Amino acid sequence: MPKILVIEDEQLIREDIIEILTSHGFDSVGAEDGLMGMQLARNYHPDLIICDITMPNLDGYGVLRELRLSSQFATTPFMFMTAKADRASQRLGMNLGADDYLTKPIGQNDLLEAIATRLHKNLYQTNTKDLILSLQTAEEKLNYLSQNDTLTGLLNRYAFRQRFSNAIANQTSLAVLIVDIDRFKRINRTKGYIFADLLLQLIAQRLGQVIGTKDSLARLNADEFAIIIGRNNLQAIAATVASNILSSLSQSFTIDKQELRVNLSIGIAFYPEHGQNLDALMRSANTALQHAKLGGGDAYYIYTTDIQEPEDSLELEIDLYKAIDRDQLQLYYQPQICLKTGKITGVEALLRWEHPHYGSVPWYKFIPLAERNGAIMEIGTWVIRTACKQMKAWHRLLSLQNLDLIKVGVNLSARQFQQSNLGQIVADILTETTLDPTYLNLELTESTIIQDVEASISRLNYFKSLGVEISLDDFGTGYSSFSYLQQFPLNTLKIDQSFIRDMSTNSKNKAIAIAMIQLGHNMNLKVLAEGVEHKAELDILVESNCDLIQGYLFSKALPAIELESLLLQDQRLIM
Ligand code: C2E
Ligand code: MG
Ligand code: MG
Repeated sequence: MPKILVIEDEQLIREDIIEILTSHGFDSVGAEDGLMGMQLARNYHPDLIICDITMPNLDGYGVLRELRLSSQFATTPFMFMTAKADRASQRLGMNLGADDYLTKPIGQNDLLEAIATRLHKNLYQTNTKDLILSLQTAEEKLNYLSQNDTLTGLLNRYAFRQRFSNAIANQTSLAVLIVDIDRFKRINRTKGYIFADLLLQLIAQRLGQVIGTKDSLARLNADEFAIIIGRNNLQAIAATVASNILSSLSQSFTIDKQELRVNLSIGIAFYPEHGQNLDALMRSANTALQHAKLGGGDAYYIYTTDIQEPEDSLELEIDLYKAIDRDQLQLYYQPQICLKTGKITGVEALLRWEHPHYGSVPWYKFIPLAERNGAIMEIGTWVIRTACKQMKAWHRLLSLQNLDLIKVGVNLSARQFQQSNLGQIVADILTETTLDPTYLNLELTESTIIQDVEASISRLNYFKSLGVEISLDDFGTGYSSFSYLQQFPLNTLKIDQSFIRDMSTNSKNKAIAIAMIQLGHNMNLKVLAEGVEHKAELDILVESNCDLIQGYLFSKALPAIELESLLLQDQRLIM
C-alpha cells in the first residue's frame, strides 16, 4: 500500500485529502506544519509527499529544500499545493525539485490522477492504478452510493443491516453500540447546516479512528451512528470502546477557526441476550441510549432487562456540591517513570468520586457536569490543596529515607484555568502547604490554552514565575501545530494515549509518536508518553529517547496509601 504524507496547515483541507486517499486504499498521514512534516517524513518513509506552500514557521519551499538535501528523499515524489496557479512560485518550486503542482481547491479526480502519474513514474508498478481506477465506473459508483452515507462515507442503514446479518452468520455473540450526539439540533440551529455537516464528517472520522476501522461503523440518522463489535470478551471490549469514544470525542473540534465541543451518549446491547434480530437489538440499544441521556448525557449505558430509574442528573448535580463536605472525593495517584533511571519521578493526581448510591462515578459523568455548573472551581481548589499537602507529606518521608523527591501533576479544566484568581489560589496553597513550587506541575490541554492565547500566555508566565511547571496534556488530539505551541512557556508534552496504543503494530502511530518526541525535544521540552500498557511500546519509547512514561505497564492510579508503599520500596521499572 503506497504511503502518502500530507503536509497542510488547514485542518479541513488536510483531513479531506487524507479521507480521499484512505478511501482509495492509500496509507496516509497528515502533518499540520512544516516542522512536523519533516519529522514525520523521516519516521514514516512516505512514497509520496503532498505539501502546502504557505505554512507558519517552515514553509513548503523550506520542507522541499531540506528533504532534497537528504539522500533518503532525493527522489521521493513531491507535489506542492497552491491556492492559485502562480507561475513565479511554480518555477521556484520546480527549481527546488518539486514534481508537480496541485491548485486548491483540489478535486478528487485531479488528486488521484496526479498521484497515480507520480507513483507510476517512480516505478511503483503495484496495483496503484487499479486502485485509482477502482471507483471510476458508473456501476461501482452506484454500488458505493448504495452502501455508503454520502456525507460521511460511512456505511448507510442498508449496509449496516447487511453487515449485521454477515456478522451473526459467523459469530455467536456481538454488541451493537448506538452513538448519539447530545443537543445536535441546537448546533444545527445556531451554527447552520454547513457547519453541522462538517462537524458530522469530523465526528465520523474520529469515530473511525477510535474503532480503528470503518467496516462496522454506520450513520443511521442525522446525528446517530452505530457500531457492531464482534470479538471475545464482549462486555469488557464494548465498555472500553464506549469510554474511548466518549473521551476521544470530548476533545474539541475546530471548524473554520471556531472551537466546538460535543457530548455524546451511547447505548449498548448484546446479541443474542438483548435481541434475537437487528430490530429487537436496536430497540434495546436505544432504550439504553435514552437511559444514558436521561442521566445528563455524555455517558454510555449497557442495556439491562430491568433498567432502573435513571440517575437524575439534577440529583447528581446537587450531590456533587456536597461531595467535598461529605468526604466522597478522593485523589488517586498514578506514577510517572523516568526512562533513564526507571525510577518514579512524579505522580499524576486523578480525581475519584464515590457516590453513596451509584458507587464510583466515572470522570466523564461528573467532571463535565462540574465544569458546566461551576462546581469545578471549588472541587479544583480542593484537588490542588489535597495534592500539595500529600506531596509535602511524602517529601518528608522520602527525605527521611534519603530517597529522591517527586513531583505531582494536577489537571486543570478550561473553566478553572480561566478563573481570574487561579494564580492567587495556587500561590496561597503553595505558601500554606510549604511545598516547593518546582514540585507542582499543572496539566492543561491544548484546547484549554488556545481558547484565548494572549491571556493563556500571561497566566502561564505567572505560574512560571512562581516556579510551577506546566504540562500539555493529551497532546496530539487538539490539532494545534508545533509552531503554534512555541509561544507558550511549557515544560512537558504528554503524548496522548491514542498514539501510544498499538504503536508496536501500527506503523503510523509509531511514526507520529516518534516525530512528536523529536519535535518536543527540539523545543526543549520533556516528553511523557501516556497510556503505556505493553513492553513493546516501552521498547520503542526507550529507543526514541522519550523521557517519561505513565501507564498500566508500571501501575494504574492508586490510593495514596498504596502509592506510598511503592515510593518507600523505591520500586523501579524493569526495562
Ligand atoms: P488525563 O489527564 O489524560 O488522565 C489520564 C487518564 O488515563 C486517567 O484516567 C488514567 O487512569 C488513564 N490511564 C493511565 N494509564 C493508562 C493506561 O495504561 N491505559 C489506559 N487505558 N488508561 C490509562 P482517569 O483517571 O479516568 O482520568 C480521566 C480524565 O479525567 C483525565 O485525563 C483528566 O482529563 C480528567 N481528570 C481527572 N482528575 C481530574 C481533576 O482533578 N481535575 C480535572 N479538571 N480533571 C481531571
Ligand atoms: Mg492529565
Ligand atoms: Mg492525558
